[in-house]
Amino acid sequence: MPTKQKSKNTKYIFVVGGVMSGVGKGVTASSIGTILQARGFTVTAMKVDPYINVDAGTMNPTEHGEVFVLEDGRETDQDMGNYERFLNTTLDGMNYMTTGHVYQEVIEKERNLEYKGKCVQVVPHIPLEVIRRIKRAAKKADADVVVVEIGGTVGEYENILFIEAIRMLKLMQPKDVTTVMVSYVPIPKKVGEMKTKPTQHAVRTLNSTGVHPDFIVARSDYALDLKRKEKIALFCNISKDHVISAPDIESIYEVPVNFENAHLSDFLLAQLSLKPKKPSDLSAWKALAKRAVQSHAEVNIAVVGKYFDTGDFMLSDAYISVLEAIKCSAYKVGVKPIIHWVSSKQFTEKVLKKDVVKFDGILVPGGFGETGIEGKIHVIEYARKNKVPYFGLCYGMQLMVVEYARHVLKLADAHTVEINPNTTNPVIDIMPEQKKLMEAGNYGGTMRLGAYPALLKNGTLARKLYGKPEIQERHRHRYEVNPEYIAQLEAHGLVFSGKSPDGVLMEIAELPVAEHPFFLGTQFHPEFTARPLFPHPLFTGFVQEVKKFKEGRKTKKR
Ligand code: GLN
Repeated sequence: MPTKQKSKNTKYIFVVGGVMSGVGKGVTASSIGTILQARGFTVTAMKVDPYINVDAGTMNPTEHGEVFVLEDGRETDQDMGNYERFLNTTLDGMNYMTTGHVYQEVIEKERNLEYKGKCVQVVPHIPLEVIRRIKRAAKKADADVVVVEIGGTVGEYENILFIEAIRMLKLMQPKDVTTVMVSYVPIPKKVGEMKTKPTQHAVRTLNSTGVHPDFIVARSDYALDLKRKEKIALFCNISKDHVISAPDIESIYEVPVNFENAHLSDFLLAQLSLKPKKPSDLSAWKALAKRAVQSHAEVNIAVVGKYFDTGDFMLSDAYISVLEAIKCSAYKVGVKPIIHWVSSKQFTEKVLKKDVVKFDGILVPGGFGETGIEGKIHVIEYARKNKVPYFGLCYGMQLMVVEYARHVLKLADAHTVEINPNTTNPVIDIMPEQKKLMEAGNYGGTMRLGAYPALLKNGTLARKLYGKPEIQERHRHRYEVNPEYIAQLEAHGLVFSGKSPDGVLMEIAELPVAEHPFFLGTQFHPEFTARPLFPHPLFTGFVQEVKKFKEGRKTKKR
């Protein structure tokens, strides 16, 4: 008789937020995963987004931050990017869920009679579906531990059913579930003292749902002193060792090292009755954290985009993976990147030299729609003519082609049909299958999404940087370089160094290095696969040229 394989006794770590959002739940969840990986465990991570949206693809990035695209094409939350970067793993759609997704599935099952005539109720059926999804992701990853981050903060209506899922799972498997609360500990300017009361209230709110945090990660400007630690322990009813100080630090990549300095993995393993598999080995992270905070020559890189303003504030959350990809390559190259978030809206007429002359490199990231588009094209023209390293990602590549067509091919009205459907020179056109979807008003999750292969042309910059002839990269777009203009563009010097295997879709455009040190754009998003321990070759190539440009500037001055 075949022996039945014993299923894994997976452990579940839930990460919830207290007091307010935006204090680093994602980095905490990722870092917890990292320190457990370093103890020899197989870890996977999940994000729960309490929105009704079925995925993040239809949300405006100024509201929600970056839409992170997974290899399988799911459009998810930016925290998924953190998990992939910290855990150095490739996640899939199973690792992400929203309220919309959960309800959609429960309703579908009900319609299919899968509840066998039962009255389907918010409780228990919604939390049970949440638990089913968590277990499904654990099984797929064959994980010893799943870290599940619940979006939002405790006390909100929105995430209450996900917290109910924690309560129910803990009731079913008391030894396999633990909860970590990431809480904010403010130091009001006028008071000048670190206040723990908001955290105490947050714990009480969580308690009222039947869940108690076993750990509190206290986020603050400074490290917790012993007195505050003891206060949180006493009033929040947890052991002092389980109160983890998490002060602001220079680089997020120091967080796993700091957690381990507080012996967090030992405490988590004990809490979950897990025997350590090996002593902690964070040497690669320690080396990275060291490189991240070392002093290096500064380089100025402009990221020209439009998803920055929210009310009176500027946020760069919409481009978080781009930022991390630049940083990770900069640590490798040995420069300190100073990122200038430049709103393309400011370049409506012409690029003023005084505004751009300080940049050692220019990057135009992905985007949609008309706002600031002429500004981006001006900046690209400036970068091309002045041999400033230029890196275009998706929209940044499409606009690079538009700029080239307008100013080198002299097709004055060249455009993308996304903006001007009536142009006589549609150098960027809608993909035929996308046209049908648009006509049917079918927008959600329908772009060309996820990983696709591309073949690289010998002797090009892209081929040299990748060091291999075939690549796989993640996409998110509806438009493409119009095949009717390829011969013309190539005849005028633009090189398509990456193409889909059937040769139809242009995946990378570049100028030969003899003409420009780095003028390259990708139809895909390389930022999604850049990892701190394995920086992306195209970003590294870009940053290397940025460094050279800066050095060249210095020698010119002398
Ligand atoms: N708007 C462009 C398209 O849909 C580019 C998309 C992007 O930059 N992700 O093709």
